[in-house]
Amino acid sequence: MKILVTGGAGFIGSHLCDALVARNDQVVCLDNLSTGRMSNIAHLLGHPGFRFVEADLAEDVEVTPAVDVVFHLASPASPPDYQARPLETLSVGSLGTKHALRVAHRDGARFVLASTSEVYGDPAVHPQPEDYWGHVNPVGPRSMYDEAKRFAEALTAAYRRTLGVNTGIVRIFNTYGPRMKASDGRVVTNFITQALNGEALTLYGEGTQTRSFCYVDDLVRGLLAMADTAAPGPLNLGNPEELTIETFARLVLEITGSRSVVDHRPLPVDDPARRCPVIDRAWETLGWRPSVPAAEGLRRTVEWFRSVPGEVRAASRGDERLEPAGNASSAL
Ligand code: NAD
Ligand code: UDP
Repeated sequence: MKILVTGGAGFIGSHLCDALVARNDQVVCLDNLSTGRMSNIAHLLGHPGFRFVEADLAEDVEVTPAVDVVFHLASPASPPDYQARPLETLSVGSLGTKHALRVAHRDGARFVLASTSEVYGDPAVHPQPEDYWGHVNPVGPRSMYDEAKRFAEALTAAYRRTLGVNTGIVRIFNTYGPRMKASDGRVVTNFITQALNGEALTLYGEGTQTRSFCYVDDLVRGLLAMADTAAPGPLNLGNPEELTIETFARLVLEITGSRSVVDHRPLPVDDPARRCPVIDRAWETLGWRPSVPAAEGLRRTVEWFRSVPGEVRAASRGDERLEPAGNASSAL
């Protein structure tokens, strides 16, 4: 099949491109490299089944030839990343989603939207089933991401209803694994790099807030399965193994063998207190459920970070944080 992956040079997108190329699909990876990087896809360049197009999806893009499936993943995803790029995040979630949907409409392609558990905000219902509508602050410090994704879901649903596009929405819960950027500011990367550098782990708040971490290979399996159906979703993809962030910190210390201490920092505003997916729908619709437990996935991820010591050290010094964050030249 011919496949367009927007955001294909990012963390999840690059693993998806790997899986598609491995099954002999023809992949067009479109990315503006704002939070992604060429090193994620360097091994695919030159492969006859892979083509990279550097473009901003918020600008109108021309994708040729016709494709059978569009995976729309383009969007910053880490809170520090999207908070440093508020206009770009809203642009790619709105205009970018429109442009990706137009490709699917033009080509009669299956369209899979990578939405997020953030559409549930700081959830009042726990664990979160898909028919919970969420508790989102529309003007808070996470709103550029949460509301962009909620709009993207609404636009996707409208293209399905009014234009008959074969769309499917997946709501991805915290995903981790090799190729995450050491400096992306997410809890997985912060704790691993801090532990490997012998620095204090920055635990925000009391550490009683929870997250459910899904290993990237499991997630990619779910994305592929979703593309192979005509199910509209929304459908949660995540690992229901729920951990407090304090427990997660202990697990990282154990797996890295680090003697780092834990340093409590203020809890960010609007930080969701609990997050855990109900995945019955994914099981019933796709026969999907995750298979990699947190401890095993973390071991693989730590091993990968050990293979890029320069990046881990640089993250600790904050070097990559010096890069300019977006140029706000996008259409919004
Ligand atoms: P990432 O930042 O590594 O990847 C996103 C990619 O999109 C990057 O390569 C970036 O350069 C690209 N991009 C951003 N704006 C673009 C634009 N205007 N035009 C073209 N490309 C653009 O993040 P990720 O963790 O790989 O997340 C991928 C997708 O999955 C995102 O849509 C994110 O919202 C969603 N998601 C991720 C998680 C997670 O835990 N990683 C959880 C929920 C949802
Ligand atoms: N967190 C933390 N220390 C860090 C980074 C994050 O304690 O150095 C917490 C954060 O407050 C949140 C959880 O870990 O409760 C997950 O944060 P992340 O940014 O990875 O993703 P989120 O799920 O909030 O989008």
